[in-house]
Amino acid sequence: MRIVVIGGGAGGLELASKLGKKTNAKNLRDQVQVTLIDQNDTHLWKPLLHEVATGALDSGVDAVSYRAQAHNCGFDFQLGKVININRDEQKIELAPLINSDKEVVLKTRYVQYDYVVFALGSITNDFNVEGISENCIFLDKPSQAMRFHKELLESLLTLDETLKTEPDASLTISIVGAGATGVELSAELFHAVEVLKVYGLSRLTDSHLKVNLIEAGPRILPALPDRISANASFELSALGVQVMTNTRVVKGQADGFVKDDGVLIASDMMVWAAGVKAPDFMQNIGGLETNRVNQLLVKPTLQTLTDDHVFAIGDCASLPLDPNGVTPADGRQRMVPPTAQAAHQMASLAYKNLTSIILSHSPESEPLKSFKYKDYGSLVSLSHYSTVGSLMGGLTKGSMMIEGRLARVMYVSLYRMHQLALFGFFKMILITISGHINKVIRPRLKLH
Ligand SMILES: Cc1cc2nc3c(=O)[nH]c(=O)nc-3n(C[C@H](O)[C@H](O)[C@H](O)COP(=O)(O)OP(=O)(O)OC[C@H]3O[C@@H](n4cnc5c(N)ncnc54)[C@H](O)[C@@H]3O)c2cc1C
Repeated sequence: MRIVVIGGGAGGLELASKLGKKTNAKNLRDQVQVTLIDQNDTHLWKPLLHEVATGALDSGVDAVSYRAQAHNCGFDFQLGKVININRDEQKIELAPLINSDKEVVLKTRYVQYDYVVFALGSITNDFNVEGISENCIFLDKPSQAMRFHKELLESLLTLDETLKTEPDASLTISIVGAGATGVELSAELFHAVEVLKVYGLSRLTDSHLKVNLIEAGPRILPALPDRISANASFELSALGVQVMTNTRVVKGQADGFVKDDGVLIASDMMVWAAGVKAPDFMQNIGGLETNRVNQLLVKPTLQTLTDDHVFAIGDCASLPLDPNGVTPADGRQRMVPPTAQAAHQMASLAYKNLTSIILSHSPESEPLKSFKYKDYGSLVSLSHYSTVGSLMGGLTKGSMMIEGRLARVMYVSLYRMHQLALFGFFKMILITISGHINKVIRPRLKLH
């Protein structure tokens, strides 16, 4: 049996690692081949991207090599960008692999499957607003975060020099979208300036950095409870972030964002983090049903509506929160949110269901299980200044707001759970220790 996982992100890499280990443990490698396909050589947990963007995290240190992980866990890895699926012939099409000199390294390839899991995540949705893709940086992948980091360092270096003669000079960074990405990035930017001051850019102060956080809705962090949103808004304003709610951007241009009243929000650097969609090539891919943001519609078993041999998990899957599909009182159907927490939970269920399929002729097999999303709450890191969020269910019996050190520990633990799923307990502890050692021996910010 051939199981192919497309996308080695928060959900896909956990799934491929667990399936690989399982087939090894059961001596099934001759009968079951697990293959992971990703367009990159390395994996970086996406919620860390805003830290890469500001230099708080060195992606070179935290990235996981797919080939090494494949070797350690017993799955195969194929480097390549998936562009299509042929369901009649049960094969996946990979685009030719082109290097930076525009040479073809590998021609078009096809990978056969018996079961395939789409786990290729999401990209930023610019909602076709004019000038956004040309003028803004998106934080979808490490290369974009690194590009932002490079531009930020160069701009701050220039600013530090300019301040010699123009003490009122400043750098303005505008971020559209006040979800977790926009909020976390805003706070990290102030931390970056604080640290760079120590590393030689001594003329910089907080007042030379202007950050506009622009949100069309009435409050920031719209997916989180009011009080968390209010708390985060207060903390950001105290840092110096200009929080602009009820502000609709209709255009992006080289010198800033244009609002719906025609006024320009002048900006030196522009980030768009206003929503997500699955990649455009996913729309009705292979005749499968997708929604308006290109996500594959799945059943509670995480199989697509029309093909039981095709699963989808994480940001590229669309599943109602209520397994019976009942619409809540306000008429809007709530969906499983596009978060790392949901991708992790979906990977766990896909693992159980695929294991049942693998073992379907043995007494250990069970009927496929249905996905039930457990919301453990949401946490937002305001860099080293604060962490705010809520914990749900379990011990708290409802929702409980937390902040400060406890919230920081819970925030970090989401990443630790991801590492636990990838590497097991012992390696996860070693990685945690080496992270603390790195904090002592490496600069507090990536400086190049
Ligand atoms: C800056 C930022 C901060 C965030 N913070 C949080 C947070 O604090 N908490 C939280 O729960 N969530 C957070 N999220 C959301 C979270 O990162 C995603 O929900 C989660 O990563 C989705 O997991 P996934 O497995 O579906 O996809 P991803 O983790 O995005 O992985 C998708 C993988 O598919 C690969 N891929 C894509 N297209 C192709 C293709 N055509 N062919 C081959 N491979 C492909 C990609 O290279 C990638 O490795 C954040 C997101 C961002 C951008």
